[in-house]
Amino acid sequence: MTLSRAQAMAHFDMAIPHAATSLKQLKDDGAKVVGFYCMFAPQEVALAAGAQPVALCATKEEPIADGEKTLPRNFCPLIKSSYGFAVTDKCPFFLHSDLIVGETTCDGKKKMFELMARIKPLHVMKLPQGYSTEADKAYWLSAVLELKELLETTFGVAITDGKLSAAIRELNEERLLIQELADYMKNDPVPLSGQDMLKLLWARNFVFDRSEFGAQVRELIGELKERVAKGEGALPKGAKRIVVTGVPTGIGAEKVLKIIEECGAAVVYIENCAGMKQFVSLVDEGKPVLEAIAEKYLGTHCSCMSPNPRRMELVAEVARDWRADGVVDIVWQGCHTYNVESRVLKDYLSSNVNLPYLHIETDYSLGDVEQIRTRVQAFLEMMG
Ligand code: SF4
Ligand code: SF4
Repeated sequence: MTLSRAQAMAHFDMAIPHAATSLKQLKDDGAKVVGFYCMFAPQEVALAAGAQPVALCATKEEPIADGEKTLPRNFCPLIKSSYGFAVTDKCPFFLHSDLIVGETTCDGKKKMFELMARIKPLHVMKLPQGYSTEADKAYWLSAVLELKELLETTFGVAITDGKLSAAIRELNEERLLIQELADYMKNDPVPLSGQDMLKLLWARNFVFDRSEFGAQVRELIGELKERVAKGEGALPKGAKRIVVTGVPTGIGAEKVLKIIEECGAAVVYIENCAGMKQFVSLVDEGKPVLEAIAEKYLGTHCSCMSPNPRRMELVAEVARDWRADGVVDIVWQGCHTYNVESRVLKDYLSSNVNLPYLHIETDYSLGDVEQIRTRVQAFLEMMG
């Protein structure tokens, strides 16, 4: 199927191939780089330290074989890919990072970080198991404070409240812009494909000039406004509308999104860490800065939290707001937390929004593409 595509996407097509060169240039100019893997990493603190926060490679299949030389084969592909990239020096962002920030999210990742610390300076932030109690909040605030002090020592800078406030404003502005963009996906026909939305959000990790990124997103929003007025779509009007949730599905690991759109349905919302998860809430600008940052990040509705009711509520809410016809929940093989949570999510959606639900357990390989395509086709046909 030929999709009519927004022309401003050309900016984001180029961002990822150019990212390694842009980061090298920044390093040569003296920039400090903090690498992170996870949505719990509070990027404002790195920005306030005058460092560039950068997402590390974890979404390609190629380095998994190297990861498996050390890690158990039944770990999730995301962990094996991260580690494979790190040990082979094939991730330029890892290579250029002065410090890696990890978190004790799932057991696999936290044990992998112990090994990774042999390769690079690495700091692991200790997460509480839940996000609701005062004890959880106090514990996480101390972890954010510890990171702030470590960055101050590492880079020889003072992270003042003023610098943190500026970083909060900068990232909040970006979050609001992405929310505005995502609102255009409520239209029928949808003016942007889910694959393009993913590419843009992924590129956001690699455009190091944030004002340039903001200008490019604004240009795209302007174009989407025109496309909506003219009734132009990336997928046909009336295409089934799918909310994708589950594990992160970044570029290189987006096969299920691609299959859904190749089957003629529109991915109208990506509710995962490669998608909208980090943009749905702001840092409260009315609260003391470090507390406000800690509060925002602790609220990340990841399945590593127990229990994790916010994810269920949010998936139901976006499914209603984006008028979804169904929810596809993607889980990497070996990811126990998302896999178990699939049962909870399925029941929650069935009793609260009465929506069809499809669970897809897969990895980064392409061996099951046709099997997934058959299941997605049957899922879409079942919707009528
Ligand atoms: S799914 Fe959870 S562990 Fe994975 S990146 Fe997101 S917040 Fe981190
Ligand atoms: S997908 Fe699951 S197992 Fe893999 S890193 Fe994320 S939470 Fe851990």
